[in-house]
Amino acid sequence: MKPERARQLQQLQAAVLLTDSGSDASYGHVTTRDVDTRHGVILYLEDITVSFDGFKALNKLSLDIGVGELRCIIGPNGAGKTTMMDVITGKTAPTSGTAFFGQNVDLTKLSETEIAHAGIGRKFQRPTVFENHSVFENLELAMKTDKRVKPTLFAKLTGEQADAISATLELIRLTHEAWGPAGLLSHGQKQWLEIGMLLMQEPKLLLLDEPVAGMTDAETERTGELLNELKGRHSLMVVEHDMDFVASIAGSGKVTVLHEGSVLAEGSMAQVQADQRVIEVYLGR
Ligand code: ADP
Ligand code: MG
Repeated sequence: MKPERARQLQQLQAAVLLTDSGSDASYGHVTTRDVDTRHGVILYLEDITVSFDGFKALNKLSLDIGVGELRCIIGPNGAGKTTMMDVITGKTAPTSGTAFFGQNVDLTKLSETEIAHAGIGRKFQRPTVFENHSVFENLELAMKTDKRVKPTLFAKLTGEQADAISATLELIRLTHEAWGPAGLLSHGQKQWLEIGMLLMQEPKLLLLDEPVAGMTDAETERTGELLNELKGRHSLMVVEHDMDFVASIAGSGKVTVLHEGSVLAEGSMAQVQADQRVIEVYLGR
């Protein structure tokens, strides 16, 4: 392989793993193994406030998510949904309040890189796959690797790693597209690839911000199936406006309604849909 290509791949891998800027010394103090979930709680937010020049994007927000739960979050624009994800992933420091991953990992004390390494994956609205690389390579580059070892190239895949990539390809329904460039995928397929890339890092908690925005009806339906397959295997927080989609993934699980930076209501889909306050601020508009 040409040195230029080897260097390019190395850079891509570093970018995927969010480790390109952090020094190795500050990296890896917390690993997914260290997260204590024996009490059945994967995420615990209490009284989180985020003030931007006095404006409270989050206002004493309290919420917890169980291990293996798929929690849907709904609420009007500006309710604070994205800001909540920013706090969980370390992008925004809360002005006050407590945020724990499991019983023991204080998220407010970790950097974004450390939080990703501890096992929280986040999918942004816009897909960020490497268009010139094959679908398979995208998954391979995203794979969790030992950072003390120099990124290795494709010949070095173990059987176990190849199996993990195959299983993910099947899950995201891209087995037939595996060797084609990611740039040729449809918008929906790119979104699934990005979910697959996050899964390759074996996150304990996955945050998805509006995963079906811009998708066709068929892609939306397929995404619902995919998330239902992840239920129980991963803990998930899904922000979405498409209420039919939310109904399809919430099942009998809890839905949380945010409004003005706090939890307005929480319960089954049927309960929140029948809640007069929820109808007033969100559903009835
Ligand atoms: P949602 O995702 O529910 O639509 P956001 O979390 O994006 O809501 O925003 C919540 C509120 O906080 C909005 O009023 C938004 O304008 C404000 N906000 C978000 N980020 C910033 C920021 N960096 N500076 C100032 N205000 C912000
Ligand atoms: Mg948002």
